[in-house]
Amino acid sequence: MFEAILTNDQRRLRDEAREFVRSVPRKLILDMDADRVQYPSDFVHEAGRRNLLGLRFPLEYGGRGLRWEDEVLAIEEVGVLGTSLACAYVMPSIVGEALNSFGSSGQKERWLKPLLTGEKVAAEALTEPRGGSDFFGTTTEARRESDHYVLRGQKRFIVGAAKSDFFLVYARTDPRGPPHRSISAFIVERGPGVEAEYLYGLLGTRGGGTGQLVLDDVRVPKENLIGSENGASDIFYRMMIPERMTSAAGAIGMGRAALEVAARYSERRKAFGEKIRRFQAVSFKIADSVTMLDAARGLVYAAARSVDANDTPNRSRRLVSEAKKFATDSAWQVINHSMQIMGGIGYTNVYPIERLMRDARLIMIWTGTNEVMDLIIQHEYYREVLSSRAETRDTEADAQEAERTSEKVYE
Ligand SMILES: Cc1cc2nc3c(=O)[nH]c(=O)nc-3n(C[C@H](O)[C@H](O)[C@H](O)COP(=O)(O)OP(=O)(O)OC[C@H]3O[C@@H](n4cnc5c(N)ncnc54)[C@H](O)[C@@H]3O)c2cc1C
Repeated sequence: MFEAILTNDQRRLRDEAREFVRSVPRKLILDMDADRVQYPSDFVHEAGRRNLLGLRFPLEYGGRGLRWEDEVLAIEEVGVLGTSLACAYVMPSIVGEALNSFGSSGQKERWLKPLLTGEKVAAEALTEPRGGSDFFGTTTEARRESDHYVLRGQKRFIVGAAKSDFFLVYARTDPRGPPHRSISAFIVERGPGVEAEYLYGLLGTRGGGTGQLVLDDVRVPKENLIGSENGASDIFYRMMIPERMTSAAGAIGMGRAALEVAARYSERRKAFGEKIRRFQAVSFKIADSVTMLDAARGLVYAAARSVDANDTPNRSRRLVSEAKKFATDSAWQVINHSMQIMGGIGYTNVYPIERLMRDARLIMIWTGTNEVMDLIIQHEYYREVLSSRAETRDTEADAQEAERTSEKVYE
């Protein structure tokens, strides 16, 4: 984040996160990328031991009672480790949101607390083989039977599936109800009928336990329902804040990591007897990249402030979506520029740029594709601009022939 706007406490938090990130063994990153490690359990335990998980949740459940404005600082730092470790780090913040905002105190004690100490691992299960963008088309079903529900269905691409102790699962509880009023959220613990295995040959983001989740008539006690029956749309919308804020903040760290490697390389590497950073084609790529990262940081910060300030949900939703789209697109472009600056050696595994590039391709797809972000951004912008005319200057009238209404033809 920008040095000038950080408080001393925020600087300390950022430095604490940096210290944690420096302590992560290089071997873990390489073993995960080579699929030799399926889930970074020690890393999550260590983050929990340092009280660095779910920073904005209340102290009584193991958080630090901070704000988004603070949490994004730590996430940017962890982002330099790549997508898989950053995702393992933020998952308690994502699943924890549902528990913290909609769970009972008993549910928070039982599931939020061990999540924040790193004792338990959780995953969120939204996406199904039939599609992820159309969330409200969920076909996983939950049938009520006396004091429990019976869940049946399949979820796909679930990060942490291989190691999770419990899953936050969305399932349809009213097959005949309208899509927004027929889905419920459950905590499903690993047990009979729950099949979750490490799967998929991923381009990058390996070692995070991504797998399929099959629910075969799983009996889930009614006490595991989060919020109200058929009321999961509110939980979904709320969870999309951490889902997208964490992608956005982590992306900045990834772009930053690649750019630092490329900038240092361009100071040492020579061509035609000159350091390559003396060529404008190289140094202007650095200029473009650092500007994109700073712009992304500004947007992430604005979105964080909007959520912290309880801004109108529509405005927060737009800003969070803009931050996710812009930060992930920017990270991809910055990593691409970094590879170009490094020439052929940037394309090899002598440097980490190729790994970061493989990781970064995913962040434009998950937590809502960037096309879905565009849908939300335009929707919320139209809603705002079409209803706010009276408050702003009518600039349409600032034209010489503005009164010529006969020329203003719309159909
Ligand atoms: C490695 C990995 C990890 C993941 N982790 C998780 C996880 O932990 N939990 C989880 O629940 N999910 C997870 N996902 C799923 C991810 O969020 C989805 O893949 C994503 O939301 C897109 O859904 P889809 O793949 O079904 O694509 P689809 O929804 O089928 O979309 C296909 C294409 O159509 C476009 N499209 C769809 N609808 C529209 C529209 N209305 N307007 C414009 N374009 C549209 C999309 O942008 C996309 O380009 C993960 C995915 C991967 C690959």
